[in-house]
Amino acid sequence: MVKLINFKWQQLILSLGCLLLIIGCQSLYPTTNPDAKPLKVATDPTFVPFEFQTADGKLEGFDIDLMNALASPAAGLTLSLSKGIAKVAGFAIQFESLPFDGMISTLQAKRIDAAISGITITAERLKTIAFSRPYFKAGLAIAVREDNQNIKGFNSLKGKKIAVQIGSTGADFAKTISNAKISTFNSGPEFFQDLLNGNVDAVISDAFATLYAIKNGKLKGIRVVADLLTQEYYGIAMPKDSPHLDAINKGIATLLSNGTYKQIYQKWFDAEPPQLPDS
Ligand code: GLN
Repeated sequence: MVKLINFKWQQLILSLGCLLLIIGCQSLYPTTNPDAKPLKVATDPTFVPFEFQTADGKLEGFDIDLMNALASPAAGLTLSLSKGIAKVAGFAIQFESLPFDGMISTLQAKRIDAAISGITITAERLKTIAFSRPYFKAGLAIAVREDNQNIKGFNSLKGKKIAVQIGSTGADFAKTISNAKISTFNSGPEFFQDLLNGNVDAVISDAFATLYAIKNGKLKGIRVVADLLTQEYYGIAMPKDSPHLDAINKGIATLLSNGTYKQIYQKWFDAEPPQLPDS
């Protein structure tokens, strides 16, 4: 009797094991071509909540979710990354960490296939690289220390000490303020520290990232005085003649129309996404 029960258990475990193996294999390779090369995508994970690393090193954020959604078979994209064989939907991504300031030149040199990093589409950048259709409506904000009462907006910035991120649209904007003393930093955490230390009077940077950090208690002692100083749109950046541009644009359109974009937007910003232009 005991032997019989044991035998049945063994059989059950064996069949369960086989079932799990089959399911496992199917979810590993649902429709992606195992011979496909991954799309190399650069990101600077210091830009919460668009891209950041969790304590255990996992890459997370709005941009990461969007890129993963584009790569999932549900978006229906087939990128020309495979060595031929079956053309199937979906593709693999290999994320690479790069400093924001080096992103454009790395794309120009074609050492990466794409970059997603809250990169604003600008006329200047379009001279050397390509952008997907806009995927996020953004803008710049002025942040000051909570107790600062004399900076009320753009007009009170003249002659002030301002911190910005190297190579960012915030840095370009700061150059238009007369007599401003500008200090440049590699990333957000650094320039906010300088503001808190009293070394600068204001920070000019992307509004959504700043407001998110304040709302989630990550930036104590800082407030925003003018939000959305500019109107900007983020795009996925690619080398100028990228073979993936059309497919990525189609994928963004699919995610916008099938509700996936809205889901990702609500997950990170707890709000309805605004309307985006087609180009
Ligand atoms: N949106 C800004 C730019 O493109 C900054 C983005 C960022 O810091 N990741 O310049």
